[in-house]
This record gives sequence, structure tokens and C-alpha cells, in this order.
Amino acid sequence: MMNSESPAGAEVGTALDVNRLRKDFPALRRMVNGHPLVYFDNTAATLKPQSVIDSISRVYSDYPANVHRGIHMLSEEATNAYEEARVKVARFLNAREPDEIVYTLNTTDSINHIAGSWGEANIGPGDEVLVTDMEHHANFVPWQQLCMRKGAKFQVAHVLSSGQLDREDFDSKLNERTKLVACAHVSNVSAVVNPIRELAEQAHRVGAIFVADCAQSVPHMPVDLQALGADFIACSAYKFLAPFGVGILWGRRELLDSMPPYRTGGNMIAEVSREHTRFNVAPHKFEAGTPSIADVIGMGAAIDYLEQWGMQAIYEHEVELSRYMHERLADMPGVRVIGDWFPGKPAIASFHLDYAHPHDVAQFLNEEGVAVRSGLHCAEPLHCALGLSSSTRASLYLYNTHDEIDRMIAAIKTVEEIFA
Ligand code: PMP
Repeated sequence: MMNSESPAGAEVGTALDVNRLRKDFPALRRMVNGHPLVYFDNTAATLKPQSVIDSISRVYSDYPANVHRGIHMLSEEATNAYEEARVKVARFLNAREPDEIVYTLNTTDSINHIAGSWGEANIGPGDEVLVTDMEHHANFVPWQQLCMRKGAKFQVAHVLSSGQLDREDFDSKLNERTKLVACAHVSNVSAVVNPIRELAEQAHRVGAIFVADCAQSVPHMPVDLQALGADFIACSAYKFLAPFGVGILWGRRELLDSMPPYRTGGNMIAEVSREHTRFNVAPHKFEAGTPSIADVIGMGAAIDYLEQWGMQAIYEHEVELSRYMHERLADMPGVRVIGDWFPGKPAIASFHLDYAHPHDVAQFLNEEGVAVRSGLHCAEPLHCALGLSSSTRASLYLYNTHDEIDRMIAAIKTVEEIFA
């Protein structure tokens, strides 16, 4: 049994200097209902460090020009910073080359690119697509709708009551008709970490391609694309300290090259005539129109910030917070956490109180300055499979502390006093 004492004072036991890095996040200075903010809604969106805010502001004040089209200095500066961010993303995720990185709007947009391009071109009647019950709607609905359009079979692998993927059910639904498997790396509700490499190898053995939804892994742990073994991954930059409005689609170069563009128009062409259009090469053929330039550049600054602390150190800090949070929740009567705890569990706890509705819990916690989320977290099939109508979710990040967990626990105890 681990010690459930809260370390007093400074955050100890991890390589992160949390007290120092907290000063980089202006939002952490806010008071909410008379209390210092405890921000535990990081699965939905993270706070932004000053360096990211400054980098966006520099774009708008110094070089607010369009990319790729101009040869004047401001456009060149914007283009250089925009493409430099692609190099940073490729290095951050260990992609083979920057040109495998496609900028999108968010994870949902990345997955729709795969469904709308690769899926439209390669899925047909009689084919099957396999997903799991633990998917975020972003990695569920596009595949379901693609199957409906194409006359393909939409297969859904079940989860066990522990929250883990039911591997027997997965195996029984994977067969030579399966053309694509899509699965979350980390669940945004139970924080289950799926063995993507193993699952991708299984998919490849039947000739299917594998899509990993990395929206909740890339921000919280080191992710090495080449080791992961998927064919496509998707994630959202605003979930790793970057601005809203930019996401990442990574695909194997040979797949990206073989795919038709998802959207057509300006910026994605090589040559246009009345009769014919020749498309640009990947990744540009997938980036139609003027992109969210400042946000992409801000994403580069966010990667610089994360790399300054190191993803391994961030992961270890979060795992320690996760251990502590789950231990404290386990001590509370009437609290049911979705999914079993496991070593290395990312710092997400979705829970249900026997005595209060999740919306009431979230509202009461907000009164105490603690920001959590309540509802289905865009994972209705998972809640349905586990027999829950909704849950309250606390999700932590590199700037969170043991003391903040104590504040959430104290607030839940007050909810218990009022409602139980
Ligand atoms: N997948 C997972 C696992 C997520 O947690 C989320 C966002 N909560 C998404 C997909 C969708 O992300 P976005 O809304 O940025 O497209």
C-alpha cells in the first residue's frame, strides 16, 4: 500500500519544478468564486504558458502575413515559422520526416480527413471497420457514417468492467474483411492505455490499416510514432498547451501519397487549368485554403515548452498525481471511479457519486474554485456499456499538485455532507 499522505509544501518526488512552472501560466493566478483556481479539466483543454501566448502575439504584431504565397519579408518570416513548427512536431513525435505531418483543425478534423480521403477511396460494400466502445465520438461517428455510406459493416469491440479493451471480443471481430481498425491510445474517460503496437500488428496481419487516436497520449507521455506502429495518428494541439484551432494528422508517407485530397481549392494545387488540376504533394495537398497560421506557430512554442521539461518527467509527475488522486478517491464511500486503477495510469479519474448527479457535483466544485467536467465526455457508447448515464471527470496536467487534489477531495466531502 502506498503512502497516501499529501507531500507537504513544495511538490516533491518528481523531476518537474512544478512550483516554478506554475508561474508560467497566467490563468493559474485567477480566483474563482473567491478561491484560487484548481484547473482539473485538462482532457478538454489545457491552460497556456506565457511563451505560447507571446508567440501568437508576436505573429500578429510583427509578421501577420499569409504563408507560402508571398516573397516579401513578412510572408517569408510567417512561412519559415509555420514550416519550422512542422519540423518541431516531426521531431517531437519522431516521425520519419516533417512532410508526414499534416496540419488540421483538431483530432476530429484529422480523423475526418482519413475517413473522407482514405476511407472513401478504399472502403466498399462487404468491407468492415473495427472500432471500440471506449472511443471518443470523434473516432466513432466518422467510421460509423463512412460504413453507412459505403455499405460496409461497422464493428465495435467491447470493453470489460475494468475499463480495459475486451481482447477476446476484439480478436473475434477482426478478420480478413476488416479494412481499417481505429482505436484510442488513451481513453479520455477511463485513462486506459491501449497496446497500440500489438493491436496494429494484429490489424496488419489481416491486411487492415490502423488509426490511433492520440488526443490523450501525445500531451501526457512520450509518443514515438515509429515505435507505436500505427498507420495514421490524430491529435489536437490545444490539449498540449498550444492555441485552439490546430490539430495534427500524421500518416505514413506512402499512404498520404496514395490518397486523394480531402478538400480542394487554393494552396493545395501544383497547377490549374480549365480542364485539369494537378495537386501539390503531401502534406500541402491536404492543407487547402489559408491555415490558422498563428496557432500553428504557437504550437511550435508549446512543443518548445514541453521539451524544456521533458515528456518523461511530465508523465512521471502525472502518474504520481494519478496514484494519489485515485487513492484519495478510493477512500471515499459512495464514490465509484470508472475503470480499475493500474500502474502508470494517466491522471484522469471519471467518477460517479452514489448520492449526487455529476452536474451538481461539477457545479458545487466550481463554487469551491475547482474546475472539473461532467456529462458523457463525448463517449456515450462507453458510458452505456458500463451502465452509467454520465460521470464527473477530473483530469490533471503538468502544473497540477497534490494540494489541489486535497482541495477537490475536501469539496467532494462537502458535497457528501449536503447530498448524502
Ligand atoms: N479523441 C479523444 C480521446 C479526445 O479526448 C478528444 C477531445 N476530448 C477528441 C478525440 C476530440 O478532440 P477535438 O474536439 O479536438 O477534435
